[in-house]
Amino acid sequence: MTQQTAGIHHITAFVRHAQANVDFYAGVLGLRMVKKTINFDAPEVYHLYFGDEHGSPATIITFFPWEHSRQGRIGGGQVGVTTYVVPPNSFEFWRARLTSLEISYEESTRFGEQYIGFSDRDGLRLELVEREEGPESTWSYSGVPTDKAIKGFGGAILLSTAPAKTARLLQDVMGLEHVATEGAYSRFRATGSLGNLIDVNVEPVAAGAGGAGTVHHIAWRAKDYADHEVWRTHVESSGYHPTPIIDRQYFNAIYFREEGGILFEIATDPPGFARDEEAEHLGEKLMLPEWFEPKRAEIESNLPPIVVRELKGEA
Ligand code: ZN
Repeated sequence: MTQQTAGIHHITAFVRHAQANVDFYAGVLGLRMVKKTINFDAPEVYHLYFGDEHGSPATIITFFPWEHSRQGRIGGGQVGVTTYVVPPNSFEFWRARLTSLEISYEESTRFGEQYIGFSDRDGLRLELVEREEGPESTWSYSGVPTDKAIKGFGGAILLSTAPAKTARLLQDVMGLEHVATEGAYSRFRATGSLGNLIDVNVEPVAAGAGGAGTVHHIAWRAKDYADHEVWRTHVESSGYHPTPIIDRQYFNAIYFREEGGILFEIATDPPGFARDEEAEHLGEKLMLPEWFEPKRAEIESNLPPIVVRELKGEA
């Protein structure tokens, strides 16, 4: 049977300031901070997760905020733009909100759809698109009502240094369908209703440089642990070099670098973010894996304090 991913599971990026990160993704965009933990490989750095009310796959963006990070450069081998989907007729709300919060934006059209593009405080590129597809958000925060709120990812623009190879991988290995090629991009569709439309540059793009304001990797969805094992075998037999399966506490993961330079992960939908704290209290407490618990006091004292707070735009 052909393997087909439902689409994006999560996207992980580098930024500098933890509080600015929280203020942007919770305060400006109205997402829920569903998990506050640390980089398991560098416990002096947070790992912050933002998504819908439950932290559902296809809605999760995660960050490693590190003050000393160098500024990255967006380019080939990265996700160039992360696309969020909002309900139809919500652009007027978002234009007013971004303006009142002094976030400059520009509008563009791709594949017949209109986009509002802007950057976060570290230069990470984001955009909004209106679509019917995908369930409406149940989370209202910071003055963003549910009928205007971000539903999750619409997709992403991948910037590949070898776009023909990236396109072939998406179709032949990841199971996406080619929808159209128009201008600078080819569009591919995955089977899910969110995180499912992936645009890839047609002409090769020069390699970017990792650092603050750039995406580190994009993770694709595997439905369960058995499916994840099949994915690993499938990726390996397709000529890629996946890592062993790694327990990331809220999902299992494998990673491999594709030929266009982009780091791909495949992550399981289960167990999700209610694994170690109650669904009503996601993100409120610093969560540590068991092996770090004895060092909690020391770890907490090395992390900058952050607070999730509302930033009411005038919209
Ligand atoms: Zn990841």
